[in-house]
Amino acid sequence: SDAESQKERVVTEEEWLQKWEMDNIGFHKEQGHPLLQKYLDVLLNGRSGLRIFFPLCGKAVEMKWLADMGHNVVGVEVSEQAVKEFFSEHSLPYCEEPVPEISGAKMFQSTSGNISLYCCSIYDLSSSIVGKFDGVWDRGALVAVNPCDRQRYASLMINLVEKNSSYLLVTVLYDANKHKGPPFYVPESEIKSLFG
Ligand code: SAH
Repeated sequence: SDAESQKERVVTEEEWLQKWEMDNIGFHKEQGHPLLQKYLDVLLNGRSGLRIFFPLCGKAVEMKWLADMGHNVVGVEVSEQAVKEFFSEHSLPYCEEPVPEISGAKMFQSTSGNISLYCCSIYDLSSSIVGKFDGVWDRGALVAVNPCDRQRYASLMINLVEKNSSYLLVTVLYDANKHKGPPFYVPESEIKSLFG
């Protein structure tokens, strides 16, 4: 099947860091994602002051949007370059500190305190470190995860959300025999079995 043809494909953290170094980041959207605008009401569900998680965040401009609306944004990204570019491109002052629970990890926080970006692998996080979230914006995240790690990723995400949370997930449907990914092809049937 389509999904079958990508099952063994792996993109290493090193390769992701290289993409950032080479400015090979076609996935980054300067203008932000139209689907977040379209489904913002679903994400917020009339609530204010939410804690919103951005897995595999890159330098997604939507983090700034949501923070400006009064929400608390937490992201995780392996590339320190991406994290620093996020703050500098939005002229946001920040401080950086080690994360005691995760060796080698750093947390970059806007001086205003409402945007915290963890620079480490998402698999290093747990709810005891980052708490739980009311909302998730998953764009370029599940579809960027190596197919062999999807189960682990989904279990972690389920662990990181509150009971009454909203999770917006963007996926891409295409002929998986024509592109090796990422983004990987994640059929709807698999999303159902991963997230229930
Ligand atoms: N969500 C962002 C970026 C998508 S690209 C956007 O919408 O623009 C996927 C990002 O995940 C890359 O920036 C890559 O460096 C990062 N990444 C890949 N594996 C990761 C991991 N295990 N933990 C944290 N970040 C990771």
